[in-house]
Amino acid sequence: MSVRVVARIRPLLEKEHDKDVIVRADSVEDGKPFTMVKIPSPKNEAEEFSFAFNSVYDQSTTQEQLFTAEVASHIKALFQGLDVTLFAYGVTGTGKTHTMRGGLKLAERGVIPRLLSNVFRRGKKIAKDTNGETTVDVALSYYEIYNDKVFDLLEPPEKRTPSGLPLREKDGKTVVVGLSERACEDLKDFERLYIESNMNRVTAATKLNAHSSRSHAILRVKVTQTTGDMVRESTASAIDLAGSEDNRRTENGKERLVESAAINKSLFVLSQCIDAISRGDKRIPYRESKMTRILSLGQNNGITIMILNLAPLRSYHLDTLSSLNVSSRAKRIEVREIENEVVYKQGPRTASANLGLLQGGAARQ
Ligand code: ADP
Ligand code: MG
Repeated sequence: MSVRVVARIRPLLEKEHDKDVIVRADSVEDGKPFTMVKIPSPKNEAEEFSFAFNSVYDQSTTQEQLFTAEVASHIKALFQGLDVTLFAYGVTGTGKTHTMRGGLKLAERGVIPRLLSNVFRRGKKIAKDTNGETTVDVALSYYEIYNDKVFDLLEPPEKRTPSGLPLREKDGKTVVVGLSERACEDLKDFERLYIESNMNRVTAATKLNAHSSRSHAILRVKVTQTTGDMVRESTASAIDLAGSEDNRRTENGKERLVESAAINKSLFVLSQCIDAISRGDKRIPYRESKMTRILSLGQNNGITIMILNLAPLRSYHLDTLSSLNVSSRAKRIEVREIENEVVYKQGPRTASANLGLLQGGAARQ
């Protein structure tokens, strides 16, 4: 299965009503769902470029519609042992945080709180349907990558080590060494933790907006299903990437230059990884940035969804084109759909006997 790449065009904000709109969603044929993004050539306005995606969501798409169409169906797979990765890519101001985190009002909630709400609901249902024989535990990690350093957002900023947390490969996956994890019982629990950690992100920053658009934020939801001595673990990761704009064009301060070199580098490495994978290269330059090591595009087992956020404005023209170029190539990346293996608390046993007890355990063979 490939990486699923979808584009979402945000609506104009109130203050933008008099601005020039140049990006639109289109379908291959009238009446078909949108799968194309159209944008004029910067050199010749009469010429229009088309980019194809698995799906395109226009400005009228609600948070609920996006979640239902792109994420809800993967929750079952998550409980069947597949890892699910969702990441938002795009220029600063195009709606990445709106898509992933969203607003506080129910209707404005983004993908992350909706994902958690669904995970808790399904977990409770499984426990009920198995008369408590299967228990479902949910634990969160939340961290950011800033200047190619990993910082735990569940810890207060004063506990940060300046060099950040190291990465290590374990069972073919990249793990952050020393990252904390908090058990979460329900949505209220999650929201308390999430709001608190987002504050950690803010207080550690010199300038709120500048900081959050320059770091990658990664939320990891670990779901552990236990039936007797069998344990099945899977994770859903939701990633709000740093802005993909060309920072060299806009920044000049010294600190900003260090930052933008690091952001430009990790996003540049990401685009190189995407190119290398889509060309079928043997060597993929994952290891050249922490973000790409963690994202491990095309190396992860499971389901990966890339959401390209777009602002329809002319003022974003060149950066929009560059993000369209990168993301439309990402569609060609294959992701192996392999479940995480069930592990046993005490030594191995014949797997088939109890597998059925774990939801969907044997169903996907
Ligand atoms: P980014 O995280 O990519 O920098 P934001 O999510 O902060 O962008 O979005 C920029 C602005 O646009 C915010 O004010 C946000 O509320 C608004 N916005 C983004 N997407 C939408 C949307 N789909 N509907 C309404 N407002 C949106
Ligand atoms: Mg943001």
